[in-house]
Amino acid sequence: MNDALKAWVEANGSELLQAQFREGFLDAEDALDMLREHLFSPLKGERPWRKMSPVYVCKAASLTEGSQHGVTFSTRPAEPGADALSPAEYQTYARIRELAPAGSAVVLWFRRGQCSCGAVYEAPTVHVCISWNGYKLAREFDLRQRKENA
Ligand SMILES: [Zn+2]
Repeated sequence: MNDALKAWVEANGSELLQAQFREGFLDAEDALDMLREHLFSPLKGERPWRKMSPVYVCKAASLTEGSQHGVTFSTRPAEPGADALSPAEYQTYARIRELAPAGSAVVLWFRRGQCSCGAVYEAPTVHVCISWNGYKLAREFDLRQRKENA
């Protein structure tokens, strides 16, 4: 934990975190979680990106050995001119860009899952990353409403 993070915990940490810190039992990751929560609070209404499960890409994909359906995942930056967003997705993207913490890098990504049978699911996300006194803190948001339980 660097000095800036220690100072932040002392000034802004919850009572619990401050007590842990005073007694020397605070893990840097927990302090960073709280800092991240604080920095990204303007975006707390946005839908966080959740990992795609293989069955989301292909209903036949399962963890069964020897399955004909193997799903691989990849991520790429969006290509202006080649990629398109729906009006609702663009609106969310623009809102996230506007609400993102000052000085953060806001990048449009496409998350893709492809099954060996040919089934594909691709989803646009927004990756927001901020450098804070030597730490890189990031959040990723889903632009597309996905059906639950898939
Ligand atoms: Zn498949």
